[in-house]
Amino acid sequence: MGRSLPSRDKWESDFPRWFDRVLEEAEIYDYGRYPVKGMGVWMPYGFQIRRRVLDLVRRELDKRGHEEVLFPLLIPDFLLRKESEHVKGFEDEVYWVTHGGLEELDVKLALRPTSETSITYMESLWIKSYRQLPKKYYQVVSVFRYETKATRPMIRLREVTTFKEAHTLHDSFEDAERQVAEAVEVYKRIFDEMGIPYIISRRPEWDKFAGALYTIAFDTIMPDGRVLQIGTAHNLGQNFTKAFDFRIQLADESLDYLWQTSYGISDRVIATLIAIHGDDRGTVIPPSMAPIQVVIIPILAGKEEDKARVLNYAVSLKKSLEESGFRVKIDDREDVRPGAKYYYWEAKGVPLRVEVGLREVEENMVTLTRRDTLERRSAERERAIENIRELLNTIESDLKKRAWEFFKSRITRAKTVEEAKKAFESKRGIIEMPWCGKDECALKLEEELEAKTLGTPWPSEKESPGSCPVCGSMAVTIIRLAKTY
Ligand code: ZN
Repeated sequence: MGRSLPSRDKWESDFPRWFDRVLEEAEIYDYGRYPVKGMGVWMPYGFQIRRRVLDLVRRELDKRGHEEVLFPLLIPDFLLRKESEHVKGFEDEVYWVTHGGLEELDVKLALRPTSETSITYMESLWIKSYRQLPKKYYQVVSVFRYETKATRPMIRLREVTTFKEAHTLHDSFEDAERQVAEAVEVYKRIFDEMGIPYIISRRPEWDKFAGALYTIAFDTIMPDGRVLQIGTAHNLGQNFTKAFDFRIQLADESLDYLWQTSYGISDRVIATLIAIHGDDRGTVIPPSMAPIQVVIIPILAGKEEDKARVLNYAVSLKKSLEESGFRVKIDDREDVRPGAKYYYWEAKGVPLRVEVGLREVEENMVTLTRRDTLERRSAERERAIENIRELLNTIESDLKKRAWEFFKSRITRAKTVEEAKKAFESKRGIIEMPWCGKDECALKLEEELEAKTLGTPWPSEKESPGSCPVCGSMAVTIIRLAKTY
């Protein structure tokens, strides 16, 4: 356990293998053995991590007046086709249910790839007055996409099992704009809490959500320097409400189509949480998100009465930790040696380990080991709770700090294509370059750098960035490019 993972200095090339192994060894997610391509199984420990992430997501959305709903999985053909840009964007990826038993269905039913159409349809029945606005719904559901690229556990799936999609309704363009900004604030809070660094870009026209006016996206950098999109927010304008002929009388008595936004995050957020703080021994989960914050390992050796003393000591420590609000586990398996237990919980990323043996009992001490640095120290039993609280806080802030340092070190400003190529070669990450604003120059850069455009900074940056490396004309903004997942 732990020892077979590719070491961090090889992550440049080996990170995907590291990630697959961690999911397996830490018993988070069983991928590749379920007999449908692109679909994985959340195992109990992974499910607990997922649940903590979702608790955080729900808390932040609820706090800002979002209401949770649950729509059917199936969307009839005619609803999905209502908005023409939207259906074009998803056409190649939709799974269809065509039969009920032996009978062919009159209306083909899509396994939802996303829910703008079904939600707009029902909203058009529910919302009759501007007084009901703004309206903010969300749901956490599975979505299905027939991905033709190579699938990857949690990152590129055919069934995305943890899709949190929010859908909002507004009486003006300005209020929808305000909502996009709120969505960005909500996501910042969520990612900050998890210690996930991000950069926020406005996606280029050719890469916006199908049916949106524009798309704002959060990207992070994985340990191998490749970039992963971890959240998006779309201003949908009136595109869907027009398609559904959904209008109501507004406060000024005019009749108008409503304005919408939608924003989503997925399993990728959990993938990032697992990957970003990890090391050669496995994942490291920040204490605020860890299903188990402290694991107590009683060192059970020698006479039965000594074992009993050690175990009692461990149980009483667990009790007082739980009373202080910590999430604690005792690993008292007798058939597993302490060393093997250490590896086991290290792979799972439990932030703090407490060892308790006969020596600790006799000296009224505990031995504490940080998962992130593997530093060991002793503490008096009397002051154990205090020490553990302090250590967990330190681990939390150190993990965040290290993650942001790595992230920032992978963002390079380049003036020329040559500089950009060099940076990609040495550390991948994100390249920022001056840009004149013309699509053809961005596409030329994509081609030359074999990279993808992430977009332009959001909110936009005022500084004058120089001249476009492709056409030489005055740049109006910077453009970000990266090798992406
Ligand atoms: Zn140009």
